[in-house]
Amino acid sequence: MSKEFDVVVIGAGPGGYVAAIRAAQLGFKTACIDEWKNEKGGPAPGGTCTNVGCIPSKALLQSSENYEHAGHAFADHGIEVKGLSIDIKKMIARKDNVVKQNNDGILYLFKKNKVTFFHGRGSFEKAEGGVYSVKVAGAAEETITGKHVIVATGSNPRALPGAAFDEKLILSNTGALEIDAVPKKLGVIGAGVIGLEMGSVWRRVGAEVTVLEAMPTFLGAVDEQIAKEAQKLLAKQGLNINLGVKIGAITAGKKDVTVEYTDASGKEHKDVFDKLIVSIGRVPNTNGLNAEAVGLKLDERGFIAVDGDCKTSQPNVWAVGDVVRGPMLAHKAEEEGVAVAERIAGQHGHVNFNTIPWVIYTSPEIAWVGKTEQQLKAEGVPYKAGTFPFMANGRARALGDTSGMVKFLADAKTDEILGVHMVGPMVSELISEAVVAMEFRASSEDIARICHAHPSLSESTKEAALAVDKRSLNF
Ligand SMILES: Cc1cc2nc3c(=O)[nH]c(=O)nc-3n(C[C@H](O)[C@H](O)[C@H](O)COP(=O)(O)OP(=O)(O)OC[C@H]3O[C@@H](n4cnc5c(N)ncnc54)[C@H](O)[C@@H]3O)c2cc1C
Repeated sequence: MSKEFDVVVIGAGPGGYVAAIRAAQLGFKTACIDEWKNEKGGPAPGGTCTNVGCIPSKALLQSSENYEHAGHAFADHGIEVKGLSIDIKKMIARKDNVVKQNNDGILYLFKKNKVTFFHGRGSFEKAEGGVYSVKVAGAAEETITGKHVIVATGSNPRALPGAAFDEKLILSNTGALEIDAVPKKLGVIGAGVIGLEMGSVWRRVGAEVTVLEAMPTFLGAVDEQIAKEAQKLLAKQGLNINLGVKIGAITAGKKDVTVEYTDASGKEHKDVFDKLIVSIGRVPNTNGLNAEAVGLKLDERGFIAVDGDCKTSQPNVWAVGDVVRGPMLAHKAEEEGVAVAERIAGQHGHVNFNTIPWVIYTSPEIAWVGKTEQQLKAEGVPYKAGTFPFMANGRARALGDTSGMVKFLADAKTDEILGVHMVGPMVSELISEAVVAMEFRASSEDIARICHAHPSLSESTKEAALAVDKRSLNF
């Protein structure tokens, strides 16, 4: 096997594997190196997203939601469920199977697109004559070369000082996705996307969940009106969310973890949990990359320093995804991967950071794109707002899920859509319409004039757009 490549990609998460496929499609001889191992020691491409992130969390969210529906919502439909129980080991095994299907899918895509895959750790050896040598160590042991290198090595969970992850009692996302029996009392530190999603999974299957968050406001990056509505709905379900706490000592015993903290009113607490999930953010992963060998610069926070085009400090070395600045989202990583491959080919790959959607897959889901109302106020941008509650949507009533709303923010003068915010059923799917509209710089009137199928949740998007001009038809 020839070891000289046009493009070598290090990391096969959503940033890396997609970059490798696009580079191969563009005619480059491409290699992709990834070190993730499955339980048998074999390759498990797909990175954090596929193995311990997006995919397994959504599998568990679905299983736990089905269980909750069977226990509560089904009765409203006249469906009686007797002797309801959940087999957590089976739920985890199903999740593992979903992950494996995705791992295998990526290996298949590599074959189909003629990307050469190396299972092992990739580290820079040297740069010579405009060519980079990358050592592969692991199942494959060799040195390969690339004219271009794309670094897509992702991120790792951030630990709290003094509370290292043991993945048995103090869990990162990895351990949180492997719990094999419902903990009676579960603590979650960090009310961000991961904390809320994991907290929801385990609450639905019976855990008493306490979420501890240092920030005084709930989901500070989300539009305030939407965040408040979401907080109310999640609290009603039984998620005990405490904001503005100051975490003190965390002590792992033999079977439980004690967390000392001061709440927002200054009262001191000492809570004992059967498991503790710590989800306080993630740090870029450059471990073992040997970036120094080629003089690759990192920024002050440890990310690989890149410009707006994902170019690093070294010629023809690029970096994408969680290991560089910007939101840590799988689809952001993918967009950057594609754009870089196209730039290598002399095309004009582009990532529009203003139209990257965000989704939190709680129930109800929370999704948004563009500016929040508080951002527009802070920036002094004159805007008009329109909201529409799912309570007034026929499909939502038929589904039995009328919680939440859709909110449009449009420029007061031009009517261009500046932000769309949603909390409610299936808004992870509904947000795409808003993304498309904003990519085409549509006005709220454009959406208001478009025919939406009836009855559908998407009618709420049209109605919220109509509400910008105070002419909702159904509310
Ligand atoms: C619990 C959880 C849920 C999430 N849910 C969502 C979601 O719903 N939607 C969303 O958009 N995002 C979600 N994310 C975030 C998402 O997973 C990341 O943004 C995404 O995986 C980043 O992709 P990446 O390609 O940059 O890196 P990663 O996915 O981290 O992949 C990096 C890969 O590089 C490999 N690697 C690292 N160093 C080397 C080396 N030196 N040699 C060889 N291989 C190496 C790693 O083994 C890994 O396979 C979630 C994250 C978590 C933890």
